[in-house]
Amino acid sequence: KQYTMILRFLMVFLFSFTISKKNLPIPILRSSLADMAFNGHLTFEKNEHAAKDFGDIYHFMPSAVLYPKSVSDVSSTIKYIFEMGASSELTVAAGGHGHSLAGQAQAYQGVVINMGSLREPEMSFHAEEPPYVDVSAGELWVNILHESLKRGLAPKSWTDYLHLTVGGTLSNAGISGQAFRHGPQINNVYQLQVVTGKGDVVTCSEEQNTDLFYGVLGGLGQFGVITWARIALEPAPKMVKWIRVLYTDFSIFSKDQEHLICSEMSFDYIEGFVIINRTGLLNNWRSSFNAKDPLQASQFNSEGRILYCLEVAKYFDPGKSDLVNQIIDTLLSELNYIQCTLFLSEVSYVDFLDRVHVSEIKLREKGLWEVPHPWLNLLIPRSGIHEFAQEVFGNILADTSNGPVLIYPVNKSRYHSNLLTAKNICFPICYVIFCFNMLYHRWRNRTSMVTPDEDVFYLVAFLSSATPSSTGKDGLEHILTRNRRILRFCEASRLGVKQYLAHYSTQKEWKAHFGTQWEVFSQRKSTYDPLAILAPGQNIFQKAK
Ligand code: FAD
Repeated sequence: KQYTMILRFLMVFLFSFTISKKNLPIPILRSSLADMAFNGHLTFEKNEHAAKDFGDIYHFMPSAVLYPKSVSDVSSTIKYIFEMGASSELTVAAGGHGHSLAGQAQAYQGVVINMGSLREPEMSFHAEEPPYVDVSAGELWVNILHESLKRGLAPKSWTDYLHLTVGGTLSNAGISGQAFRHGPQINNVYQLQVVTGKGDVVTCSEEQNTDLFYGVLGGLGQFGVITWARIALEPAPKMVKWIRVLYTDFSIFSKDQEHLICSEMSFDYIEGFVIINRTGLLNNWRSSFNAKDPLQASQFNSEGRILYCLEVAKYFDPGKSDLVNQIIDTLLSELNYIQCTLFLSEVSYVDFLDRVHVSEIKLREKGLWEVPHPWLNLLIPRSGIHEFAQEVFGNILADTSNGPVLIYPVNKSRYHSNLLTAKNICFPICYVIFCFNMLYHRWRNRTSMVTPDEDVFYLVAFLSSATPSSTGKDGLEHILTRNRRILRFCEASRLGVKQYLAHYSTQKEWKAHFGTQWEVFSQRKSTYDPLAILAPGQNIFQKAK
């Protein structure tokens, strides 16, 4: 077997001089990888699914898909390709659950690793303080939720949709309405196992192989394939009071959101969305939310106006409903929403967290889930959010409603600078809060994730769906043109906006995206994936030739 391997390796070397490099991957891959011994298996046919993602805009066919059953399947594949050196153009992409937007988990003529088939290690829980769970990186967050709830525990930080993989969201950030309190998901991981671009299997954490640990978090799959992760848990609540209120004035809306994310006593989840050109809105909500004052609510006329909806949630356990109602009343009394637009719902914790899946089922039934999704996700510094809202919501978006537009602030440190300068807090207390902030609550600032410079920034997500083959306002081209208009406005007005889940075609654009972090990012690339084998679909580095 070894002789065969050596022979094939020599063939690769010789072939590289005799045939066009463009033709190299498929024949070499078939003849060589096919002979390798895997615990799982490789497929060379019917791999179209690996060339498709949620965005449904970019489709790059791989040469093979690896269904690993063990970490050694992953490491031996990468090591083999690494040892082929620059003679082959083969690349490798870890594939989560197909929810990228622009081919980020695809590998043109390369190998896609189907992370979902890696079931090593089995999910294992540690209930002692601090509780955590070890999971395989291809695991879906929804499965982790169900398993941890059996032990009265749950992860702390989520995404809005749970049918995403651990490796996929940790390679981006994982941001949702809990991030103001716990940070993004990349803040709530204790340890990782990673297979680097050289095929080495490395365990890393804040104490061990620190640089790789931080690099991989938010690292867009560039430095290694995450094979397992140790995720922080907390005691799980059972129920959720879920609340929506409306505003017509953006300043009042954003002031309330910012007040809530920096208050000591607050909700457990804070998000919001923009409502443009929607009629009969409150009627739609009535199936799942109840108006606090039904008569007043029925008289509220939303027609034609831009509305801002604050969405908050408070977790509680049955038997504590009265207490939590009092807390909610106090919190709501500090806000300035339109009083008659208070809508409430009470749901289980699982139903609350898995809420987008309910929409997914409905959209699938109507054939509206598997359509192109030209999403645009932006991180906007607090100082620029008013200018942004005025131009984008008031002008660029004025005539469109291709999907939800989310908007909510998060803060990198737990306590907002407003609180530190509050007149009623004396200097020593401010100092203690400041130190506490630095130690425990900052977003990990050494990760690869790029955020705006300011402490508070807004996530604004344009979650558009396009109607296939339409050339109108709901068509892909129209929405992409609108997205470009928004980006041009951000650039021209120098708001310091960063894209999240970004897609760029050139390294120049990526350099601008990373800004001062580029040097560290590219240094990490040459350390952990020197031939640029990993995650080619991000278009950041070209495989070395
Ligand atoms: P993939 O799309 O397959 O992978 C994403 C990237 O990570 C690729 O470059 C891939 O190569 C790499 N990768 C995947 N697995 C690994 C691994 N094990 N090791 C190393 N690299 C890996 N994001 C949020 O932050 N907040 C949200 O609320 C949110 N809501 C969403 C709702 C919907 C309906 C959808 C479709 C997406 C949402 N996302 C959200 C975006 C989500 O974080 C990304 O889509 C992400 O890509 C996860 O999808 P995935 O698990 O399928 O990973």
